[in-house]
Formats: sequence, structure tokens, C-alpha cells
Amino acid sequence: MEERLVVIGGGPAGISAAIAAAELGAPVTVIEKNAYLGGRPIEENYASLTPYLESAEEVMGRLIAQLTSFENVDVLTSSKVVGASRDHAPFELDVLTGSATSKVEAASVIIATGFTHFDPGRETQLYGYYEFPDVIALQDLEAMLKEGKVTRPSNGETPQRICFVQCVGSRDRQIGNEYCSKVCCGVASKEATEIKLLIPSAEVFIFYIDMRMYGYWENQIYWPAQEKHHVQYVKGIITEVLPKDGKLLVRGEDTTMGRPMEVLMDLVVLSVGMEASPGTRQMAALLGVKQNKYGFIEAANSPLDTVSTSVPGVYAVGAALGPSDLEDCASSGGLAAAKAVRDLHALA
Ligand SMILES: Cc1cc2nc3c(=O)[nH]c(=O)nc-3n(C[C@H](O)[C@H](O)[C@H](O)COP(=O)(O)OP(=O)(O)OC[C@H]3O[C@@H](n4cnc5c(N)ncnc54)[C@H](O)[C@@H]3O)c2cc1C
Ligand code: SF4
Repeated sequence: MEERLVVIGGGPAGISAAIAAAELGAPVTVIEKNAYLGGRPIEENYASLTPYLESAEEVMGRLIAQLTSFENVDVLTSSKVVGASRDHAPFELDVLTGSATSKVEAASVIIATGFTHFDPGRETQLYGYYEFPDVIALQDLEAMLKEGKVTRPSNGETPQRICFVQCVGSRDRQIGNEYCSKVCCGVASKEATEIKLLIPSAEVFIFYIDMRMYGYWENQIYWPAQEKHHVQYVKGIITEVLPKDGKLLVRGEDTTMGRPMEVLMDLVVLSVGMEASPGTRQMAALLGVKQNKYGFIEAANSPLDTVSTSVPGVYAVGAALGPSDLEDCASSGGLAAAKAVRDLHALA
């Protein structure tokens, strides 16, 4: 059996890793549990991507077309790794596709199984995500924006007052997610901009603890949202969302003014954070790779080697390592591909 480089997960990070390895001439197998490639941006119907508001479907479509154009790449969709002999490379993986299992010999494995959205209905969360239809999450708004129509789910009307609540499920010691999810300030600002382009008469507010717009996103997203599109940023902590007179009463504290705040909104968008996906947890356990306390895979030699894990020959990329944006996916994918191809040559 030919030894291959196996990438588990066909989202932005897995595809980036597979393309980089294929460009280096390695035989690559991508194993994806869904019936299609593309990861969260496709599964959750993202409308557009930072920073240029390009269609997510088009960007991911180009990446997928590039991947599938390589003769040395096999893509197994609707497939999962269900068993692994992992004592030493090469690894033997049992892959379940439908009801059939097959064996894949892997010189090295790249885990690219990504993240899941924080469930805003969980304990301590008093935002009414499951109670009030007009309380939605970032990914729900992405799907509306993709349809080109933002409405109040309760009555189909166009909302005129919309707010985003930042840091839902992140930076929260009470629930044990102390980390910052890294992309939600940028994604909320991008979505707020898109709402203003779609509904110019709408008032859009972002309630934030700190605005964390790292690198070039400051100029590319934040300042245009504020200065060109008049999105209103309010430093404050939101504690509760309640129904009132057919609208939503958003309650909290304006931390700049140091006083309680109550405002009525038509639509509330929760900027939910990232958590390790069940697939990331399962693959880490199956391959014996060390996870951090949040369930993400721990990079064994960080900060300058961000992809090697505690098991030689097994690498992790993208959001399997922790909150990440698409640039992180591309860079960790490239690094893991280089290391995995080196392993392949070492075995030859
Ligand atoms: C609402 C929202 C909007 C965003 N918008 C942007 C943006 O505009 N720009 C930006 O830079 N970032 C954005 N991000 C972040 C971006 O989504 C992530 O950086 C990116 O999706 C991570 O890619 P990934 O491949 O690591 O993981 P994922 O996208 O989660 O993909 C993982 C893949 O692995 C598969 N998988 C999981 N488990 C298994 C298993 N056991 N076996 C086989 N396959 C498995 C999944 O089906 C999936 O296809 C956004 C995030 C959110 C929440
Ligand atoms: S990126 Fe912004 S919203 Fe997301 S956790 Fe960090 S500070 Fe909070």
C-alpha cells in the first residue's frame, strides 16, 4: 500500500495544507465527514469574508477547485477515521465511508477538524437565544446576509435597530472559556457594515468589552465601519435580553459612563466564540495527541513551531489548534504540509 499524507478535515485549513503538500508532489488523502468540502464557511452559509467582503462561496470554491485539480490528491467525503494504529509512523488508519471501511497508510497525519460555535443557550447565558426568535448569532446573520435579506425572524419585518453583543462564550471565567475567540470583533464589524449597506436607515450598535481588531483589520474593517458606515461602538457589558412591547430590551452597563443601560432593539446578534469541535476532540483522543484544557490541540513546540503535536508525525492546523482566522489557516496549513512532506521523504 502506498504511504500517503492524510489530512483529516476539509475546511479552509485542511484544504490549505493539502494544496501545499500536493504542490510539493506528495500523495495526499483528504478525509472529510461532510458530503462536501469547505468547512464552516460553507456549512454555515457565510456570506462574505474579511477583509474585502468577497463571497465566501466563491473564495472557498476557488480553493476547492485548486485542490481537486491535483492528480495526486484523493478526497474522501462523508468519511471518518474510526481507528488508528499510532505507535509509530507509518500510521494505519481505518476509514469509514458510508457503511464500508477501508485502510489508509499514512506517513503523517494533519488534523484539521476545526471548531464549533459556542452554544449561547448554555448555563449562565441570559440572552434568550432559544427563547426569543429575534435573538440570533453571528452565523445566523451570515446566512441572512447570504440571502441578501435581513429580517426579524419573529415577523419578517426589516429591523431598524440592531445590536451585536460581543464576547458571548469567550473571555468568560465562569464558563471556563478564558480565551479570546480572536475573530468575532472583526466578523461583527464586517456584518454590521453589511447591514448598513443593505438597510441604510438602520441604526447598528456594537456593545463590546474591548475591541480586539488585530493587525490590518483595524484599518480594513474597524475604522471604515465607524467612520464610513456609522456603526456605533458602545463600551459596555450586556447582562440580559428580555422581550418588551414586541421588541427586545437589552440590559447592561455602559462602562464608559459607569451607569446602567437599557435599550430597545429589533434584532440582537450574539457574537459567539469558538470552541473545539467534537471532531477535534475525537481525533486528538484517537491519535493520542495532547489537548489543552479547552479541548483544542496543543502545539508541542510553540511559539515558533505552531503545528507539531505531542505525537511525532501528527500535526494540527487552523481552528483545531484554537481560535483562528483564515490567514492562520493558510499559514499553519503551509507549515504542517512542509513538515509532513519531510516525514514522507524520511520514510521513503
Ligand atoms: C460567523 C463566523 C464568521 C467568520 N468569518 C470569517 C471571515 O470573514 N474571515 C476570517 O478570516 N475568518 C472568519 N471566521 C473564522 C473561520 O471560520 C475559521 O478561521 C475557519 O473556518 C477555520 O477553518 P478550519 O478548517 O480550521 O476549521 P472548520 O472551518 O471548522 O473546518 C473543519 C472541517 O473538518 C471537518 N471535520 C470535523 N470533524 C471531522 C472528523 N472527525 N472527520 C472528518 N472531518 C471532520 C468539518 O466537517 C469541517 O469541514 C469566521 C468565524 C465565524 C464563527
Ligand atoms: S474577538 Fe472580540 S468579541 Fe471575540 S472574544 Fe475577542 S474581544 Fe470578545
